[in-house]
Amino acid sequence: MTPQQLMDKSLWWNGPQFLQQVTVELSDENGISTEDDYLLVLKRESDKSLALTLDSTFLDSLLSISNNYSKLIRVISFLFKFANISRNPKSRPDGPLTTMELQRAKLFIIKYFQKIAFQDNVKLLLRGKQPAGKIKNLNPFLDDNGILRVGGRIQKSSVNFVKKHPIILPDKSNFTKIVILYSHLKNMHIGHQNLLYCVRREFWTLNGRSIFKKNVHRSITCFKAKPLAND
Ligand SMILES: [Zn+2]
Repeated sequence: MTPQQLMDKSLWWNGPQFLQQVTVELSDENGISTEDDYLLVLKRESDKSLALTLDSTFLDSLLSISNNYSKLIRVISFLFKFANISRNPKSRPDGPLTTMELQRAKLFIIKYFQKIAFQDNVKLLLRGKQPAGKIKNLNPFLDDNGILRVGGRIQKSSVNFVKKHPIILPDKSNFTKIVILYSHLKNMHIGHQNLLYCVRREFWTLNGRSIFKKNVHRSITCFKAKPLAND
């Protein structure tokens, strides 16, 4: 089921009744799951709680069944929409997800994974103290949305805010792997060095180069084509 088809299903807005009808389809290359896999999780979770609280268990469940960054954002966007309708039954917005809705979901996900990895440093920053450990040299700061970003770099340049202050991603998080793989596939299976530059337009990963090399190897197409050339 495509996101558009999902949007076209009027029953979607009725929540659990629709969610109970979903089936699971086969995954495609790189273990990317179909939209329906997500819906299965939605069903499971909505059985537990109609309030649709987006807790850690829920996000971890989503990540365990799919490594598709774009779909992850869309599903969380739908959930926000769904939760909003639960609170305001009269509001039934039509049409595809807006850029703002997708952006909100994306920041929510990023914040969640940053919170897991950098909890202590976030607390220090909130208290106005200096962060410690690996990210200290990045001179990190929290932006207006509470997102941890690289600070102090190329301050005087004309580069825009996002490029000047990339979002910091933890090196051992599954979410970071998902972001890297997504960018690799989106950019026609680009090699790990160029991939690093692409991703750094928005994100800064700790232990940069090795993590990129490792994740290009996770691409089945690249691994089959050149099992050794990616080294
Ligand atoms: Zn590839």
